Amino acid sequence: MILWDEYEQVIGIAHAGWQGVLDDIVAETADMIEEYGGRNYRFKAHIGPSIRACCYDIFGDRQRLFEEKFPAHSSEIIHEHDGEHTLDLVACVRLQLREVGVTDERITIHPDCTSCRAEKYDSYHRDGKTYTQLISSVWIE
Ligand SMILES: [Zn+2]
Repeated sequence: MILWDEYEQVIGIAHAGWQGVLDDIVAETADMIEEYGGRNYRFKAHIGPSIRACCYDIFGDRQRLFEEKFPAHSSEIIHEHDGEHTLDLVACVRLQLREVGVTDERITIHPDCTSCRAEKYDSYHRDGKTYTQLISSVWIE
């Protein structure tokens, strides 16, 4: 997840995986940008390629943690397919972006699911410990 204030030229980038989302990495990133002069009414955000609800199966304690973290939105973030559940981490990050003041029109989302697109991405969820790293970079011009 990349979050920035174009006016102040401050950028934050964070890995918003399941643990980061549960630990409020979006709010922490927003706080850091504000420490450098950024203002949330100018924030824009991008969610990069990541595992999506089509592939991210979830169950047990982890599912319960997400239902407790987003009690008013569990049907939005947990999808059910034939009795199996999947997690929509993008929806979680979008909810957390809204909480820090980033409206939907200031959020862009890359369309790729890293688990579906095996020809293009490695995926820890799909490949286990044989995976390689996906690196994002961002800069100011
Ligand atoms: Zn997928």
